[in-house]
Amino acid sequence: MYYNSRIETMPLAQLRELQSKRLKSMLRRLYDQVPFYKELFTKEGLRPEDIKGIEDIHKLPFTTKEDLRKNYPFGLLAESMDQIRRIHASSGTTGKPTVVGYNQNDLEIFDEVVARSLYAGGARPGMKLHNAYGYGLFTGGLGMHGGATKLGMAVIPVSGGMTDRQLMILKDFEPEVICCTPSYAQTLADECKKRGIDPRELKVQYAILGAEPWTETIRIQVEHGLQVKASNIYGLSEIIGPGVSQEDVEEKGTGSYVWEDHFFPEIVDRDTGKPLPYGEEGVLVFTTLTKEAMPLLRYWTNDICSLRYDPNGKRTHIKMGSIKGRADDMLIIRGVNLFYTQVEEIIKEFDLLVPNYQLIVSREGNLDKVLVKVETGEGVDAGNEALAHRLKEKIRSTIGLNMDISLEYFGAIPRSQGGKLKRVIDTRR
Ligand code: ADP
Repeated sequence: MYYNSRIETMPLAQLRELQSKRLKSMLRRLYDQVPFYKELFTKEGLRPEDIKGIEDIHKLPFTTKEDLRKNYPFGLLAESMDQIRRIHASSGTTGKPTVVGYNQNDLEIFDEVVARSLYAGGARPGMKLHNAYGYGLFTGGLGMHGGATKLGMAVIPVSGGMTDRQLMILKDFEPEVICCTPSYAQTLADECKKRGIDPRELKVQYAILGAEPWTETIRIQVEHGLQVKASNIYGLSEIIGPGVSQEDVEEKGTGSYVWEDHFFPEIVDRDTGKPLPYGEEGVLVFTTLTKEAMPLLRYWTNDICSLRYDPNGKRTHIKMGSIKGRADDMLIIRGVNLFYTQVEEIIKEFDLLVPNYQLIVSREGNLDKVLVKVETGEGVDAGNEALAHRLKEKIRSTIGLNMDISLEYFGAIPRSQGGKLKRVIDTRR
């Protein structure tokens, strides 16, 4: 049932004790080893011993991406370089990449949380993993690789791109599990169809998808198109990489378990930074409790979601809802806040549409305009004006914005070639 049942089902009171103990020693480490944090604490008039337990965490200052950039590349390391065993960087989706370092113990924690995640996603020892996350500075490829090895899987390190080869390997090597971005899973599903590959002939049963926001709309398409059970994996390089949280494949749609013995999550108000109660949406903030080479205190991820405990869940750890988007990806259209995932959610209600889409944002005079380009299913007429009209109306009544609709033929919108897909083109910037 679990990769690590003792930890994954640990009673909450015990988990809190563990978190408190770990937080206190982590603060000591930050204060003694990282000049940036020592200064920050001094500025705030704080000392590590002021913090008595995890319940005091909100008294501590945040760390931001900007802090990482200012200390680029190695300024936040809490250890000397001879103890570092690997260096990664973020994908750089929102600017200059941030750099992170791991010592041996950190790499073992990374393997552990990814192994737990793979297991929760349906993977078992003895299965083969088709790993289509990019290998390299990005944490996806090597991160999943290490965890799968630890779990006892045979890893096929395909990496991203070269779709022909991916399909050949899926057919010939018969992996039971695939991991990649959800948009690349869409590409693979489309390509199977295009080439007349019946997904039921493939042996792949589970898809573990993450690294970018996705909704139920894409889950349905991928599950059908590849004949798999798809679950969500979340992570970010600053905290460790993939495996910060994972959805249980038997509890799909109820959120992803945050491995909170290692990463303590909070949701805070995006404007004030004040902690928000469970269930409310805000910015996700993480404190690493066990990382040694580069521990981070209350790291402001900029990702928007909510947290809650699930009394019906198999594990005791908290669940995070799906990410709506990054705070800095939030579009403001004529005063209305918009995440592209809201449009994706609406597409689900239209059988004749498929979730291959793009939002083109522009400004005419003083007016913001959004054009939704979305593909129709195979064989469906893209000139179907009644369909375009119904989509426009549904968006208007749900989101409250008038958007222009352009229905496109199946295959007309750029697909993911392996990495994260850009769904929004904002020409106002
Ligand atoms: P970058 O910020 O440059 O993309 P990373 O490669 O470390 O750097 O990616 C981490 C970010 O990717 C997260 O902060 C989040 O915005 C996004 N992400 C990762 N996994 C998911 C997921 N399952 N759902 C939504 N967004 C995700």
